[in-house]
Amino acid sequence: MKKPSLFLGVLLACPVFGGGFQAGVARVDITPNLPFWLTGYASRSQPATNVVQRIAAKGLALEDPTGSRFVLVTADLIGIPATICDAAAERVERITGLKRSQVLFNASHTHAGPVVWSNLQVMFDLNAADQARAEAYARGLVTQLSDVATQAVARLAPARVSFAEGEIGFATNRRQFTGNGVRIGVNPAGPMDHTVPVLKVASPEGGLQAVVFGYACHNTTLGGDCYSVHGDYAGQAQAALETAHPGVNAMFLMLCGGDQNPHPRGTFALAEEHGRALATEVDRVLDQPMRELQPPVRTAFETLSVDFAPHTRETFAEEAQSNDVFRQRRARMMLDAYDRGEPVQQLDYPVQAVRLGPDFTLLALAGEVVVDYALRAKREFRGEGNLVVAGYCNDVACYISTARVIREGGYEPVSSMIYYGKPGPLADTAEETIMVGARKVLAEVGWTP
Ligand SMILES: [Zn+2]
Repeated sequence: MKKPSLFLGVLLACPVFGGGFQAGVARVDITPNLPFWLTGYASRSQPATNVVQRIAAKGLALEDPTGSRFVLVTADLIGIPATICDAAAERVERITGLKRSQVLFNASHTHAGPVVWSNLQVMFDLNAADQARAEAYARGLVTQLSDVATQAVARLAPARVSFAEGEIGFATNRRQFTGNGVRIGVNPAGPMDHTVPVLKVASPEGGLQAVVFGYACHNTTLGGDCYSVHGDYAGQAQAALETAHPGVNAMFLMLCGGDQNPHPRGTFALAEEHGRALATEVDRVLDQPMRELQPPVRTAFETLSVDFAPHTRETFAEEAQSNDVFRQRRARMMLDAYDRGEPVQQLDYPVQAVRLGPDFTLLALAGEVVVDYALRAKREFRGEGNLVVAGYCNDVACYISTARVIREGGYEPVSSMIYYGKPGPLADTAEETIMVGARKVLAEVGWTP
């Protein structure tokens, strides 16, 4: 077998150019037909009245010279439940052969986007027609999100991939300490991560094809009084970049912004201002020298079991008598679970790692991850070249707080769990369980302690 190995040797010795990646991009409009309920604020009282900005899902496929592949799917949505991600991933596997670890779904967490059933279902008491529309939209997403992934794979062509980071400051810690506990407000002294990671995908000749940019901040510039479909600051930033670079897929990657809000917030003008500022920073990074990434593409995926703090049936029997309709609904869900003999004690928690050679690693965590996780992971995995830590990946079942945030209490660890239909705070062991899982998937893609 001397001849074939010689032939292979020649191929390996002569990379076509640059890192030898192939890349493909695709996009699909996922704006719902109105009437349709928006999600993210329990205070809304009617469906959306109009569309101010259309929303999209976008795909980026990468392949190394050995044929190892990865597809990123980003979407202007509040959160994509595991039921939808897993069904879409299964369809992607049937069509392309890609395994679950090779496909990543990330949601921008826009609060002016459609209900993604059954995310945050406790927030809603939809009439039959609205409920049917919500369920049909969720079914449609399985097809749309898998189509955008398979189309990106079908378009693989030689590409250069590079990485650099910028920084912008409008994200502010929102856990404000008051005499009445922690409230959602503004806490400039709290932990934050203002990094803007930028992944550039260009043709061999250097023409920009796609840019993936991240930020750790809620897409909540627009408030509960907004009844217009909109991608918030992330939508504005993507639109600004796509206007400046026609034909390019600008993809927003939501990072660990679970406890971060844009500041200031409340108007379309501010969403535009934040979006434009973010796009300007991404453009500045694109114009600087960036590190060209090298193969191989490696991926790993695990589903962890994360404990909730212990609870009893009595707690929910009492809560069912509450005057708060959301508490009543959560209590009923928990009582039903108890009565089925399956009280909700654990959370299935997907953790994924993607590595593009020695100079880029993405740790993808599920849920509304507070910024502490990104800061801790960057400290603990310091040897990792350019570690990016994303939240809101592959499932958004609830907030994911650290032991510190759970101890402090407030919206993210405690009261948000009502709207997510979860029994209460995560156990204070949750942080360690997740960090152990992160270490495992990072080791699988090549991290060494
Ligand atoms: Zn949130």
